[in-house]
Amino acid sequence: MLDGAVKIPKLSPMEARIHREIIGKVKSITLSRTSTGKYFASILCEDAKGAPEKPDVIDADKITGCDLGLTHFLIRSDGRKQANPRYLIRASQNLRRKQKALSRKVKSSKNRTKARLIVARCHEKVGNSRADFQHKLSRALIDENQAVIVETLKTSNMLKNQRLARHINDAGWQGFVTKLEYKAIDAGKHLVKLDQWYASSKKCHRCGHKEIAMPLGKRFWQCPACQMEHDRDINAALNIKQQGCI
Ligand SMILES: [Zn+2]
Repeated sequence: MLDGAVKIPKLSPMEARIHREIIGKVKSITLSRTSTGKYFASILCEDAKGAPEKPDVIDADKITGCDLGLTHFLIRSDGRKQANPRYLIRASQNLRRKQKALSRKVKSSKNRTKARLIVARCHEKVGNSRADFQHKLSRALIDENQAVIVETLKTSNMLKNQRLARHINDAGWQGFVTKLEYKAIDAGKHLVKLDQWYASSKKCHRCGHKEIAMPLGKRFWQCPACQMEHDRDINAALNIKQQGCI
C-alpha cells in the first residue's frame, strides 16, 4: 500500500483516492469497474481486535423496533418516521427519456456508446443516492441503540404483488438490512431479524387483539377490544419491538 496509490502484484502502482485509513494486515484487494468506467479497489484487512462483545443486559430505551414501509421508509417504535426517498421512481421520467434516446441510436455507433453511458450514469446516481441514504440511516440506528429489531419476511411476501414490487425494489429494504447487520457486528450491538411470519400490522400492541384483515390502505384503526387508536405503522413497529425482545 502506497501513499495515494494502490499497488497490485504484477501491475504498476495506480493512483487512487484512499477513502479511509487502512488498519491491520491487507488480506485481499478486489478490483472492480462500474458501467460508467470508474474503477474501485476494495481492500479487505484483518486487525487483531475482532468484533466487540454484545451487551447481555440492554436498557429498554435502547431497543428500537423498525417497520419498513413504502409511504415511510422506516418507522421506529418510538414513533419517528423517515420519509421514503424513492430515488428510482423520481428519476424514472428522466431515465425513460434517456433510454428512448439510446434506442434511437444506430447500433455499434459512437453516438450509441455515448447514449449508453448517459443512461448508465443516471442509474449510477440513483444507486449512489440510495446507498448514501441507507448508510446514514443504518449508522444512526446502530449508534443510538443497543438492539435493533427488523422484520425481514415481509419483503418476499410483498414482492409477490407486482404493483408493489417496483416500489419495494426502489426502497431496497434488503440492502438496508445488510448494512444494519454488519454495522451491528462492528459496533457490538444486537440486530434481531424476525423472519417468521408474524402479523405485526394486524395485532394491537397493547392488548394483543388480532384483526382478521388489515387492508394496506388503512393507515389508522381503533382496537375493538381495548379502544386504543393506532397509527398502523407505529403499532407494527411496537409489535416488532415486543416480538424481538421475547
Ligand atoms: Zn387493543
